Order: sequence, then structure tokens, then C-alpha cells
Amino acid sequence: MDERKFRYAMGNFATGVNIITTEVDGDIHGMTANAFMSVSLDPKLVVISIGEKANMLEKIRKNKKYAVNILSQNQKELSMLFAGQLKEERDVPFDRLADVPVIAGAPTQIACEVVSEHVEGDHTLFVGKVIDLHFEECTNPLLFYQGKYTSLATGAVL
Ligand code: FAD
Ligand code: NAD
Repeated sequence: MDERKFRYAMGNFATGVNIITTEVDGDIHGMTANAFMSVSLDPKLVVISIGEKANMLEKIRKNKKYAVNILSQNQKELSMLFAGQLKEERDVPFDRLADVPVIAGAPTQIACEVVSEHVEGDHTLFVGKVIDLHFEECTNPLLFYQGKYTSLATGAVL
């Protein structure tokens, strides 16, 4: 099947937008991701899916910890930065949660420890046990739909 057809179809599933963060030897690395799911309540598990070409892949394998930072609408530029869509260097402020770096100001931050790894096709699924989380009320999440950033309130392309 044509890849573009697959992506068009998958793009009809509206999602939020996250930045995955981790750290190796003191270097913090972030990557934009929308492949994320809550998996289990007891124990509390989530899953992310990382492409085989992403620099993030080996970093999570090494650290065995990652954080999921769920973005608000006013963080679209951060999403573009960590997806490599903004070709500039920026000094991004990070906080820490359970000793995992998180994006300062992300309304939801979820720190995880990898409990299993599954290579599936050209992606690797990392199931993470939630070790701590922090969240603030967010009425304006950043959304991704049909390959474009959008918002809950108006449905308008940002
Ligand atoms: P790199 O290309 O190495 O880094 C990405 C960018 O982040 C670079 O510009 C880098 O300079 C910057 N950066 C990294 N760390 C820092 C730091 N500490 N301070 C400042 N800047 C930093 N891919 C997936 O595999 N899974 C997904 O679920 C997924 N979902 C996506 C959803 C959306 C909405 C978008 C737009 C893209 C998505 N991608 C996903 C694609 C993915 O974000 C890009 O392919 C990404 O560039 C690959 O990450 P990388 O680890 O190779 O990062
Ligand atoms: P797009 O039209 O490629 O995205 C629409 C949907 O297709 C996404 O929400 C996702 O569900 C799916 N998709 C896209 N690329 C995929 C991949 N490599 N593996 C599995 N599913 C994928 O949107 P776009 O604006 O062209 O995306 C910008 C860039 O980000 C592209 O390079 C795209 O490949 C990448 N991206 C990757 C993933 C992923 O790896 N899971 C998800 C979203 C976007």
C-alpha cells in the first residue's frame, strides 16, 4: 500500500502533541511525538513509539527512563523545534521530575521507567511504568489532525 495513503488515513485520528525527553551523560534530548497511549491503571503504564531513525531511540535504550510532556496550544513552536521543523538552536528550559528532565511549563509531565521494549516494523514501542507525574489544568491542548496543528476551541489551523 502507498505510504501517503496510510499517513492520510492515520492523520484522521486527531491526537494531542507531546515532547518526549530523556538524558544521557548529562545531555538532555527531546523529540516531538504523538504516538502515545495510556496502557494500564494497575500498574500505571503508558506506551510511546519511536522511529528507527530517531536519535531518541538509543538514548531511551541507554537511560531506560523518559518523560512525556503534553503540550498546550501556545507551545506549537516547541513542538516544531523538537520535530526538527524549526532550523534554529534554542535554549529550552527544563525542570526535573523523579530525576528525569521535563519541559518547563508543559501542563502535564509524566516521568517513566522503561519496563519493556518491543521492536515492531520500523518503530520501537517503549512501555513505561509511571514513577511520578505533575499536571495543571489545561483548557487549550495542542492538537495534531490531518498533518496540521490545530486547537480544541476553534478547530482553526494555527
Ligand atoms: P533530532 O532530529 O536529533 O532532534 C529534534 C530537534 O530537537 C532538533 O532540532 C534538535 O536540535 C532539537 N533538540 C533536541 N534536544 C534539544 C535540547 N536539549 N534543547 C534544544 N533543542 C533540542 N516520530 C516518532 O518516532 N514517533 C512519534 O510518535 C512521532 N510523532 C510526531 C508527531 C508530530 C506532530 C510531529 C511533527 C513529528 C512526530 N515525529 C514522531 C517525528 C519526530 O518528531 C522527528 O522525526 C524528530 O526529528 C526525530 O527525533 P530525533 O530524536 O531524531 O531528534
Ligand atoms: P503526516 O501526514 O505524516 O502524519 C499523519 C499521521 O500519519 C500521523 O499522526 C501518524 O499517525 C502517521 N504517521 C506519519 N508518519 C509516520 C511514521 N513514520 N510512522 C508511523 N506513523 C506515521 O504528517 P506530517 O505533517 O507530514 O508529519 C511531519 C513529520 O513527522 C513526518 O516526517 C512524519 O513522518 C513524522 N511523524 C511521525 C510519526 C511517527 O513516527 N509515529 C507520527 C507523526 C508524524
